[in-house]
Amino acid sequence: MYALVTGGSRGIGRAISVRLAQMGYHVIINYQSKKEEAEKTLELVRQTGSDGELMPFDVSNRDESRNALLSWQQAHADEYIEVLVNNAGIRQDGLLVLMDSTAFERVIATNLLSFYNVTQPLLEQMIWHHYGRIINIASLSGITGQAGQCNYSAAKGGLIAATKALAHEIAKKNITVNAVAPGFIRTDMVAGLDENGLKEKIPMRRFGEPEEVAELVAFLASRNASYITGECITISGGV
Ligand code: NDP
Repeated sequence: MYALVTGGSRGIGRAISVRLAQMGYHVIINYQSKKEEAEKTLELVRQTGSDGELMPFDVSNRDESRNALLSWQQAHADEYIEVLVNNAGIRQDGLLVLMDSTAFERVIATNLLSFYNVTQPLLEQMIWHHYGRIINIASLSGITGQAGQCNYSAAKGGLIAATKALAHEIAKKNITVNAVAPGFIRTDMVAGLDENGLKEKIPMRRFGEPEEVAELVAFLASRNASYITGECITISGGV
């Protein structure tokens, strides 16, 4: 059983990779540049008794993504990736009045166009096998909007809408598509933020841990979540 986690080298993607390995998946760990971190994730995956492999490519690059995924498929003719977690993401915050187009486009490409780049090449096999689980890591910002994050909010909002649309397309093929929308989760992505100030606005008065998100993703990836599709589930300590 194969699962692919994009952005599996660090943070939430690492925790998801380990959790899926505990479920018995061979985990394909995608990352962009931090090979050492990806190797650490692979080591943690192997410590569960399962196995995995690294698959570096830039999810914002359509040809690079497609080539990596189709090469893997050619080398594994009798296998397919049945769980896909679209997790890789970046933020590049700033007020729109000051934001250059590169910051807007880069965030859209990495957080939203990546959904097409990675999901589309894998769908045919999921449909053929009549089983699949697709989980998209969105964000609370994609639901509520967040000042300083027009680019990121637009990308994550688009990802949630794409989740619902694709769920409708392939529900009858026994493939579920869901989104998870975290609030503040303690990873490199939020390292520069004022945690003490921000946690006053969180009913649970703390940031979440990557493992807590991984637990929800693991449920959605499991056979037990067989009648849940097209949903966006927030995980935010009550925000
Ligand atoms: P991190 O910054 O800790 O990790 C980001 C991961 O994405 C890394 O593995 C990185 O790879 C990978 N990545 C970034 N760009 C690309 C790319 N172009 N191609 C392939 N891989 C890429 O982020 P988090 O773990 O915090 O975030 C994971 C997801 O959760 C993101 O989608 C984020 O938007 C979302 N999220 C996070 C929240 C939080 O509070 N942390 C809140 C809400 C949503 P590499 O190591 O090679 O750089």
